[in-house]
Amino acid sequence: MATCLVTGGAGFLGSHLCDELLHRGHRVICVDNLETGSLANIEHIRNGQFVHVNVDIIEPYFVEESIDFVYHLASPASPIDYLRLPLHTLKVGSYGTHHTLGLAKRHRARFLLASTSEVYGDPQEHPQRETYWGHVNPIGPRGVYDEAKRYAEALTMAYHRQQGVDTGIVRIFNSYGPRMRPHDGRAIPTFLRQALQDRPITVFGDGSQTRSFCYVEDEIRGLIALAESGYHNPVNIGNPDEFTLLELATTVIDVTGSRSEIVFEALPVDDPQVRQPDISLARQILGWEPTVSLREGLRRTLEEAGAEKLIGAGE
Ligand code: NAD
Repeated sequence: MATCLVTGGAGFLGSHLCDELLHRGHRVICVDNLETGSLANIEHIRNGQFVHVNVDIIEPYFVEESIDFVYHLASPASPIDYLRLPLHTLKVGSYGTHHTLGLAKRHRARFLLASTSEVYGDPQEHPQRETYWGHVNPIGPRGVYDEAKRYAEALTMAYHRQQGVDTGIVRIFNSYGPRMRPHDGRAIPTFLRQALQDRPITVFGDGSQTRSFCYVEDEIRGLIALAESGYHNPVNIGNPDEFTLLELATTVIDVTGSRSEIVFEALPVDDPQVRQPDISLARQILGWEPTVSLREGLRRTLEEAGAEKLIGAGE
């Protein structure tokens, strides 16, 4: 049994990670100030090896017991959150990552940074390999998130090279599944919520921009494999099946049996045109690849979360 500290453990991905680590017999310390997460995501956990600590990681924090793994997921993640919390997002990526790396160093723990495909920006390389340096607008509204993550990657490599901390970096591509917030503004929860109410599905631009969607179970399996691998350079973990937003909308309509029509809205600033991971490296070093198709993942999300949770309260 290992002791794993998960920052952001009450969030969407973090809570699934806590579940899976506990399922594998590990002890889990969830550090989360509930800024964008919720106790509702962890209230089902009935396991004596689980503890939640309400701490804001922007301030230095300490843990008494010994720790083997640190999974650093805390950060606003959806555009709605980081546009509302621009300075907080930059502080979590900088101070928060600094404090969490310091903690990993003190405990001689293996550290895994949850980075993002957004470090590639609006990519000029397709699909995106880990060697691609990205095409990011640092001063646009999304810059606070993209640059916070790029800084966090630089900080992680500096702690590794200069301080000898055992670090890894996972570049997470769009993930989905139960516990997404219905109003977090991302495509899948929005489309599901609209489709389940037979309301118009709002596609940005002409819907020709592409995304690749990874079911949460696959994503979490990849994160743990990377944490346990001892690999130091960034690794893409995402599903390489690529869909246009229009294809996603029609698939959601199909899976939910909805009568919704599709309407088009203005494209947000700096919205990437394409997004598709090259996962050759993950296949090679981790033997990892996703197994859940988009259709299957949407069906499972619907089944496990239930329509009521996916619709949520209020508009
Ligand atoms: P989320 O918003 O559901 O979870 C983030 C969690 O971090 C929340 O529970 C929040 O309360 C916590 N948090 C934020 N600031 C904090 C602070 N200062 N101190 C302590 N806790 C704090 O988001 P998510 O979708 O689960 O994303 C988790 C991580 O994965 C993020 O780092 C995100 O950048 C990364 N990621 C997610 C996706 C995705 O598709 N979901 C894609 C790429 C990268």
